[in-house]
Amino acid sequence: MRESWHEQFAEAPDVLLKARRGRTVVSVLGVAIGGDQFVVMAGPCSVESEHQLMATAYKVRSAGARVLRGGAFKPRSSPYSFQGLGREGLKLLASARNETGLAIVTEVMAEEDVPLVAEYADILQIGSRNMENDSLLEAAARSGRPILLKRGMMATIGDLLRSAQVVLSNSNANVILCERGIRTFETAMRNTFDAAGIALLKQVTHLPVIADPSHAAGVSELVPALAQIGIAAGADGLIVEVHPNPAEAWSDGEQSMDFPGFTAMMADLEPWIALHDARLHEQNPSEAQCVDLSFAKAVA
Ligand code: PEP
Ligand code: MN
Repeated sequence: MRESWHEQFAEAPDVLLKARRGRTVVSVLGVAIGGDQFVVMAGPCSVESEHQLMATAYKVRSAGARVLRGGAFKPRSSPYSFQGLGREGLKLLASARNETGLAIVTEVMAEEDVPLVAEYADILQIGSRNMENDSLLEAAARSGRPILLKRGMMATIGDLLRSAQVVLSNSNANVILCERGIRTFETAMRNTFDAAGIALLKQVTHLPVIADPSHAAGVSELVPALAQIGIAAGADGLIVEVHPNPAEAWSDGEQSMDFPGFTAMMADLEPWIALHDARLHEQNPSEAQCVDLSFAKAVA
């Protein structure tokens, strides 16, 4: 790794790639994130009803998703907007897991809710607005559940890695990083998707990195292109918002894909994912060579 990156990210020593240290693979319910298969997480922004969640769960599973997303506790721009179903939403997520076998990722927003959310979720999401909430990060880390850490909308890559370090320092090695767009002067999109940030993360950290094209784009038309760019940049997976009827969604409808749109996107992504998987297989032999060399050194 470039020497200046060691200096730049010195506050996050445990998340940095090191010689002879393998990449972190986060395993949940038989799904390996950061392993040799690309993983798609998909589902509604908010859990709204049993019908909405179940219909979406079955649909995203048949299109190839392996993890179901859905918010039960929602960070909203307005205090008057829908704030999520809370415990009721968590119960619906758990029954969707039981019925479909999909692992569940859902956001936890408050330290005091960590035990409740950890009881139902397979992966705890720390949202953009809470990326630097250290007491929440510590509590989430101590739950023992894997953490999906979303990049703050005004956070640098260094800030993101420092927050990951907080989780690792609290005895939880299972962190997945997520690029979801950052704020720039551009206003035509909800956020600016930082593809270079993904490429950089893949060079500096052993943690899995996924892309969220939905919150970056803010509109569903741009989601397939950003998904492709995320894969090309080296992401290990995607997290995508999908809703049975986006026009009626209680949150983030404009950026949510409908079922036909999501199914079509997944089919179109196949060659991109195949390229990603092939690239990983190419990298593996060189890793094997690394091991051989260290063995040769040890016996010399
Ligand atoms: C979400 O995943 O619905 C969400 C609120 O994401 P972010 O924290 O990236 O805004
Ligand atoms: Mn959302």
